[in-house]
Amino acid sequence: MSTPTITKTEARLIGHIIADQEANRADEAIDRRAPGTDEVVSQVLAGGSAEVAAAVRAARTAFDSGAWPKMSVAERALYLNRVADLIDANADQLARLDAEESGKPITTAEGDIGGAAGLWRYAAALALTMKGQTFTGNGPDYTGLVLREPVGVVGLIIPWNFPALILSQKLPFALAAGCTAVVKPSEFTSSSAHLLVKLIAQAGVPAGVVNLVVGDGRAGQALTESDDVDLVSFTGSTATGRRVLAAAAGNMKKLSLELGGKAANIVFADADLEDAAAGVVHGVTFNNGECCVSQPRLLVHASVADEFIQEVSRRMQRVRVGQPLDRETQLGALIHAPHLKRVKSFISGAQEYGGDVITGGQPLSDAALGKGQFMAPALIDRVAADAPIFQEEIFGPVLGVTRFTTASEAIGLANGVQYGLANTIWSKNTDTVLDVAKALKSGTVYVNTTIDAPPQMPFGGYKASGIGREMGEAGFEEFTELKSVSIRTGKRVNSFPQTDWEGVA
Ligand code: NAP
Repeated sequence: MSTPTITKTEARLIGHIIADQEANRADEAIDRRAPGTDEVVSQVLAGGSAEVAAAVRAARTAFDSGAWPKMSVAERALYLNRVADLIDANADQLARLDAEESGKPITTAEGDIGGAAGLWRYAAALALTMKGQTFTGNGPDYTGLVLREPVGVVGLIIPWNFPALILSQKLPFALAAGCTAVVKPSEFTSSSAHLLVKLIAQAGVPAGVVNLVVGDGRAGQALTESDDVDLVSFTGSTATGRRVLAAAAGNMKKLSLELGGKAANIVFADADLEDAAAGVVHGVTFNNGECCVSQPRLLVHASVADEFIQEVSRRMQRVRVGQPLDRETQLGALIHAPHLKRVKSFISGAQEYGGDVITGGQPLSDAALGKGQFMAPALIDRVAADAPIFQEEIFGPVLGVTRFTTASEAIGLANGVQYGLANTIWSKNTDTVLDVAKALKSGTVYVNTTIDAPPQMPFGGYKASGIGREMGEAGFEEFTELKSVSIRTGKRVNSFPQTDWEGVA
């Protein structure tokens, strides 16, 4: 059953939530217009340094004198599992909020929410495995303990493309480790974070453990500058990531940066070309192409290029562009008008470098798409490796094709950008797959599948795609500190070198 258009929604007021107290008033609020209809669907309070300071104080008190960091891991896991159950119980509402505000297809949003609940459950399981190390090999009287401790108060900054999902790649892992948190969602997509923080309170997580400050980049900047925040986990563009890196220098806080990407799909002649064509189209249209591991570069072996491009073009033309809340929609509305304009500019830019537009890029005339930010997915052949379309993150449904003749040429092209988040290999030859996977400079390599990341697999970037890892055991460990405790037992037999031990009382 399809829902043809978004029904008119009362604008929601989205405020900060600090120590379970919700702020409903402010001088300044930001209107959020749904990308599918241009209607105002929510108003977000514009938090700044005062709200961030209050939220950090609440998180600091909850960490320094509250129950959360001292609780047994079994008890923390119980709370995280309760949150997961509440996410399941509220999945329809969470998915609708994310689809409406981000413009992604409702079916993608539903997948996000299912994934989010899974991440809370996985983090609960990881909490139970929290462990340090013991070293006993340094003499009979020596015991070395490596204690694993929560890092403290963490600031979590979330982008708009996977609002509930990326929040869930960070927050449950931080909570599992015993940290307390201040969450700053994107001004464009704050409603699901607001509901999630309420569900966390409903699950019984003590007040002050999770706090929410909404607003624009000023709130994020204040969070990264705060001397009372011990770690910032940021997901967003590489440009903002550089600002976060500089702001964090004040108190040398720990940082986890999940930044931009520019993945390539590398299609060898021995691939299953039908699977590869489906994967390539999915790779550039999934989540409207607004995905850090989106695959806007197609590197294809010259011997199969013409036939393969034809198949990709055929499939791209069949992608259904439509309103985000329509269940038939495969490609929704881009986040806002300036972003749509920028994405389209890559098409004309590619032509200036000799690229051929095979399909897409034309204005859409369907009346149901009204005032929304829609575009047909675009395919451009003969993209030069120095063209902006090859080098820069597009973050929209635009695919550029470049041909290669040898594996080393394909590796050079794939690695020839500033980013290193993900790449995909399509080949049935094990030697090719392993050689190329090892040579690619990216944190993730998909083989004969794409955008396929279960929570056990650590996720993060090489090069300008970031610092640190999310998910997997490594994602949990990001929110911990190690403390080495060296212990000698009994009366010391040997004095310390260079010390007159006799002289010490
Ligand atoms: P963005 O503009 O960098 O914003 C990310 C977050 O940072 C938002 O909450 C934003 O608030 C906030 N922010 C803005 N200025 C800030 C500042 N000076 N200090 C601290 N925080 C600040 O990124 P976006 O456009 O939302 O997201 C798209 C980007 O995220 C793409 O580059 C994509 O590749 C990347 N991304 C990476 C991953 C990954 O895992 N590697 C995953 C998803 C997305 P406002 O939105 O309110 O301005």
